[in-house]
Amino acid sequence: MFYSKLFGKTKKEIKNYDSISHKLLTQAGFIDQIASGIFEYLPLGKIVLSKIETIIRKEMNTIDAQEVLMPSLHPKILWEKTNRWNSVDVLFKIKSQWANEYALAPTHEETITPLAKKFIKSYKDLPLALYHITAKFRDEKRAKSGILRGREFGMKDLYSFHKDKKDLENYYQKVIKAYLKIFKKCGLKEIKITEASGGSFTKKFSHEFNVITPAGEVNLIYCEKCEFAQNEEIANNNVCPKCKNNLKKNKAIEVGNIFDLGTRFCEAFDLKFIDKDGKEKYPVMGCYGIGTTRLMGTIVEINNDEKGIIWPENIAPYKIHLIGLDLKDKNIRQNSYNLYKKLTEKNIEVLFDNREDVSAGEKFNDADLIGIPIRLIISKKTGDKIEYKKRNNKEIKIISFDELINKI
Ligand code: ATP
Ligand code: MG
Repeated sequence: MFYSKLFGKTKKEIKNYDSISHKLLTQAGFIDQIASGIFEYLPLGKIVLSKIETIIRKEMNTIDAQEVLMPSLHPKILWEKTNRWNSVDVLFKIKSQWANEYALAPTHEETITPLAKKFIKSYKDLPLALYHITAKFRDEKRAKSGILRGREFGMKDLYSFHKDKKDLENYYQKVIKAYLKIFKKCGLKEIKITEASGGSFTKKFSHEFNVITPAGEVNLIYCEKCEFAQNEEIANNNVCPKCKNNLKKNKAIEVGNIFDLGTRFCEAFDLKFIDKDGKEKYPVMGCYGIGTTRLMGTIVEINNDEKGIIWPENIAPYKIHLIGLDLKDKNIRQNSYNLYKKLTEKNIEVLFDNREDVSAGEKFNDADLIGIPIRLIISKKTGDKIEYKKRNNKEIKIISFDELINKI
């Protein structure tokens, strides 16, 4: 991609931000705010979000979950059936001009359960796991911190149906492992898992996946050595029950949450199956969410410095940020366009700053702000060689094309 053509260039300064990720993502040209809690994803932001979704999809498919796509517009009757039309405080309610009422889905138990009911007849149809990745809508009283808490935001939500509690518990553990893999691949090394009960969406028990950062809204008491953590309000340990380590306290962001739903939703929609013994039973259900857009914001909260974002490799919008300097010189211009061509022919993702009317300093600042893992420079100084630098490292090397290919 030529940076000269990229839609959504960097901004010198921005006003009205309330978190580091909000500031950096806006300034670097990944997102743009329409109103409080409502965002647009520009090309760079869309690439990152798609990469996060691809990582999630792969792990979902590995645990035998199948992808579907459900609507955001939910007829009121579905939410009345589960008694949630009036009990979910963040529910957006819409009146159609034709006298119908709808909810804008904040979560999808109200559609997945009736959908599963159409296909689950016997124990042979179980277990069943379906997921989708869509926008969710929540009428948050205070949208804040950019994409960390939106009114419209992205979520992957997975739902599973099981013949009994034991089968659910088994699958639940698989999801925990899949989640830890997803977060690790997204560059979040340390995830703290809290066990909680209830919550506004009436669950039996749940586990939250948290990332420690000052930008967080939850107070966590946690062990530095392992995944153990507790919410401050319910904490009843002074030392880690596993490691016997002293516990620490800090703010955290919840990036994922998984729940044992029991039979509540299957009962509400009268979803039953015939078990091996010939008896009719309600399946036991689990649901598992990851906030995809919140995850993107969290990754930036964790990976940045005073100059900008430092994207973890797997989800960086491009692998290489190529900077051409002195481009008015014919030779240098040819060299840098050639390098761009050779790299892209090898399917290496390159953002090429080919602007001719921008100073070297500005180009360096933009590269640091955007945060692509490898920066290459071609200039008068480099001759046939290439200047190589990693975003998270000060060391500069002058290398040949072959050395570059070896490195990446
Ligand atoms: P919170 O306590 O932060 O309001 P929640 O517990 O109500 O979130 P869940 O119903 O567990 O949220 O939703 C699953 C995931 O969706 C959360 O773990 C979080 O990552 C994400 N999420 C929830 N609300 C928002 C929001 N307003 N903006 C962005 N992501 C969100
Ligand atoms: Mg939650």
